[in-house]
Amino acid sequence: MGVGSDTSVESTLAIIKPDAVARGLSGEILRQIESNGFKIRALKMVHLTVQQAQQFYEVHRERPFFASLCQYMSSGPIVVAILEGERAIERWRALMGATDPAKAAPGTIRRQFGTDIEKNVVHGSDGPETAQREVNFFFSTLDRVG
Ligand code: UDP
Ligand code: MG
Repeated sequence: MGVGSDTSVESTLAIIKPDAVARGLSGEILRQIESNGFKIRALKMVHLTVQQAQQFYEVHRERPFFASLCQYMSSGPIVVAILEGERAIERWRALMGATDPAKAAPGTIRRQFGTDIEKNVVHGSDGPETAQREVNFFFSTLDRVG
């Protein structure tokens, strides 16, 4: 049986956020992603408009941090990727660490590189439905390999 029939193999969306791209951390973060066993199935750099950031984060529309978050996420280019692997959704969130870098476990990407609870370097989908929505937000089937 091919891996395609293994239901434990998941795809998830990863984003390297604008301040991390601006600080030249994209290569190091992608290196850590690969060395932790994820397969990168699609990869590109985009610069969201504030309206596109609002659409992406629409579940947070009522939260007090929404306006600031959408300004931040549209402040410069981001790197977006589809990561694939066994339990990729949960494992990518574990590698990212807690939302607040100060509370993230040692060795996690947010703990290593995060500035504050907003500028926390990376995004990861939080469940299977979110992952599908977020992958489809950024990528068409033609963008994906494997
Ligand atoms: N965020 C923020 N202030 C908060 C909580 C979250 O600025 O109090 C930002 C932060 O960039 C976070 C994003 O909003 O990554 C989405 O929040 P969520 O609770 O979904 O955290 P995540 O899933 O990214 O860990
Ligand atoms: Mg989230």
